[in-house]
Amino acid sequence: MTTDPSTDTLQAPLTSLRGVGEKVAKKLARLGLSELSDLLFHLPAHYQDKTCLIPIQSLSLDQNALIEGEIIDVQIRRFGHKMLTLALEDDSGVMTLRLFNFYPNQIRSLQCGVRLRCYGVARQGYQGGVEMIHPQWEIIHKPVPLETTLTPIYPLTEGLGQNLISRLCQQAIERMGQIEFELLPASLLEQIGLPPLNESIRFMHQPPAGADTQLLMQGEHPCQQRLAIDELLAHRLSLRLLRQKIQSHSSGALESNSALQTTFLSQLPFTLTGAQQRVIDEISDDLSEARPAMRLIQGDVGSGKTVVAAAALAQCIAAGYQAAMIAPTEILAEQHLQSLRDWFEPLGVRVVWLAGKVRGKARTAALEAICGEGQLMIGTHALFQEAVKFRNLGLVVVDEQHRFGVDQRLALRDKGLSQHLAPHQLIMTATPIPRTLAMTAYADLDVSVIDELPPNRQDIQTIAISNRRRAEIIERIRHACAEGRQAYWVCTLIESSDNLEAEAATEIAEQLNDELPDLNVALVHGRLSSDEKTTLMSDFKAGRTDLLVATTVIEVGVDVPNASLMVIENAERLGLSQLHQLRGRVGRSEAQSTCVLLYRSPLSQTARERLQLMRETNDGFEIARKDLELRGPGEVLGTRQTGDMVFRVANLERDHHLLGLVSSLCETLLADHPGIALALIHRWVGQAAAYADV
Ligand code: ADP
Ligand code: MG
Repeated sequence: MTTDPSTDTLQAPLTSLRGVGEKVAKKLARLGLSELSDLLFHLPAHYQDKTCLIPIQSLSLDQNALIEGEIIDVQIRRFGHKMLTLALEDDSGVMTLRLFNFYPNQIRSLQCGVRLRCYGVARQGYQGGVEMIHPQWEIIHKPVPLETTLTPIYPLTEGLGQNLISRLCQQAIERMGQIEFELLPASLLEQIGLPPLNESIRFMHQPPAGADTQLLMQGEHPCQQRLAIDELLAHRLSLRLLRQKIQSHSSGALESNSALQTTFLSQLPFTLTGAQQRVIDEISDDLSEARPAMRLIQGDVGSGKTVVAAAALAQCIAAGYQAAMIAPTEILAEQHLQSLRDWFEPLGVRVVWLAGKVRGKARTAALEAICGEGQLMIGTHALFQEAVKFRNLGLVVVDEQHRFGVDQRLALRDKGLSQHLAPHQLIMTATPIPRTLAMTAYADLDVSVIDELPPNRQDIQTIAISNRRRAEIIERIRHACAEGRQAYWVCTLIESSDNLEAEAATEIAEQLNDELPDLNVALVHGRLSSDEKTTLMSDFKAGRTDLLVATTVIEVGVDVPNASLMVIENAERLGLSQLHQLRGRVGRSEAQSTCVLLYRSPLSQTARERLQLMRETNDGFEIARKDLELRGPGEVLGTRQTGDMVFRVANLERDHHLLGLVSSLCETLLADHPGIALALIHRWVGQAAAYADV
C-alpha cells in the first residue's frame, strides 16, 4: 500500500523507535502494530486525570481522583490477607487508604508524617468516611509538578507495559510533526465539520489539562467523533468493496418459476404467509440475475425461514446447478437434512449429506457425489473444506450465521470458481438486527425481512419464577406431558464450558428423572457424539421422549412443534437475544406454549427489568433493540462472530447518528476516489489486499 500520502517516515518499521528491538516488535505485532502510523491509530482505551489535585473534602464517590496529603496513622493487619490501613490528611479533611500486596520495605517507608500522592477510586468506607482501596501511590519528598495532559491508558498485550506503549506513542506523535494525515478531500471534510484529523489524533493521545473529560470518557468528544467517522467509513468501505469484488464475477442466472419450485410449494401442508411469499419473490428475482446474489434473510424465530430457503434451493436445482445448505451445528444440519429429504427426494432430487462425522466410505461417496451427480448438498462447514470440490455450485444458503466473515465469503466464492462462476449467497438469521447496526454490519448485503409469523400461532406466554418454586414447575411439566405435549428443560451456566454445562445438566436430568417417573426423560449436551445427539433429537422429534433436558446446544433452529413448554434455568444470567432464541423452540404450533424463566433471588434491578421485558414482548426486534442498548453489538450479532466488528474508537450504538453521513461519504469515495478508499481500509481494517484486486 503506497497510496497513503503520509508516506515514508510514518511507514517506518517500529524498530526505528527508541526502545524497540526485535522482541518488542514481535509483541507489538500481536496488537496489529507494525509501522509507525499504526501507533498513532492505537488509541487509548480510557484516561486518568492526574492534572489536578482534589481536596479530600470534595471527592465524589465512585470516581477516580488524584489526592495528596500526609500520613497521620498507620495500622497493619497481619492475619489473613495482610493489609496496611493508612489515614491521610490534607487541608480539607482525612480519609482512609487500604493497601495490600506490599513489600516489607514499603511498610518502613510509609510512616506518619510522610506525604503521599494517590490516584484511585473514592468509595464509601466500611465505617463511614471515604476510602481508597489499593490506589496507585507515590511518596512525595519535594513538590512535584502535576501532569499537564490527561494520562492515556492503552489497550495492552501480554509482556508490554503501559509505560512502554505510552512512550512509543509519544515518540510517534513527535515524528508525526507536520505530516498531513488527512485522507479525505476538502469537499468531504466540509460536510463532516469536525476538527481536522491530525489535531484529533494528537488530542486523543495527549488530551490537554482542562479537556472535557466527561465528553471524552463518554466517547462524544468532537475529536473522537472525527476518528470514529474515519473508522466507520473504513469498515463500510471494506464491506462495499468486498461486495464489488464478489459481484465482479458472474454467476448462473437461475430461471424463476420452475416446475420443481412450483411442485414443491404446492405440496406443502400449509399456505405461505404473505411475508414468506414476498421474500421468496425477492430472492427469486435476485437469483435470476447473472451476478452473485448477496442477501441476508432476517426472520424472527418460527417465521418459517426453512421453506423460504427450500424454494431458493429448488430454483437453483431446476436450473441445472448444484445447491448447498449449511448450518452451524450438526443438530441443525441434520434437521434440515430430514426436512429437505422429505420434501425433495420424492421429486427426484439427489440429496447428499456431509458433516465432520461423515468418515471413511461414506465420506468418499459424498465427495464423489459432490463433484458428480449430487444436486442438493446439506451439511456443516465441512462442506467448505478444501477436499470438497463441487461440479457446478450455483447457490449456497447459510443458516443461522448472521456474521459470516470476509474470509468465509471469499472461500465460498472460490468454491464455484472452477467453472468461472461464483455461487449466489443467501444468509439466514433469526436474530433481528436493528437498522443502525444492519447498515454498518451488513453494508455488503441486501436485506429481506420475513416480518410475519404463520397464522394461528399463539404468543408464547412467558413467566418468571424464583427457583424456590421448582416443585410447581415440575407439576406443570407432568401436566403438559400427560396431555401429550413435550417439554424442554434448559440448563445454563455463566462460565459456560461444555464440560461444566454437561455436568450440571446431567445432575438435573437425574433429579427430574426421579421426580417424574412416568415420563421419558432424555439428556442432550455438547459432550455427546453427534450420533448420540442425532438419535436423541430424532427420538424427541418423534415424540418418544417427553422431556428433553438440554444445554444451550439446542439454542438455534431446533424445530419440534409438539413441544410447548420450556423451562430455562438461571435465566437472569443470559442475554435477551439468547433467551429469545431459546424461547423460540416452543410456540411452533397452534397449541398455547409457555416459557418459564427460573431465576435465583435476589434479582438485581437490571435483571428484573430484563426478565420483565421478556414477559412483555415476543417481538424479536424489540428485544434486539433493548439488547443492543444494554449489552452492545457483540451480544446482538453473536459474540463468537464479531471478529470483524471490533472497533477502536467507534461504537455503533453511541455513534449511530454518524452512520447516515458515513454511508453517503462511502458512496462518494467509491465513485470518485477509490484509491483513498483502499488507504482508509489499510489504516483501520488492515489486509487491504483482500479487497483490492477487484
Ligand atoms: P425458523 O424461521 O425459525 O427457521 P422454521 O422454518 O423452522 O422457522 O419453521 C417453523 C415451523 O413453522 C415449522 O414447523 C414449519 O413447518 C412451520 N411453518 C413454516 N411456514 C409456515 C406457514 N406458512 N404456515 C404454517 N406453518 C408454517
Ligand atoms: Mg431455522
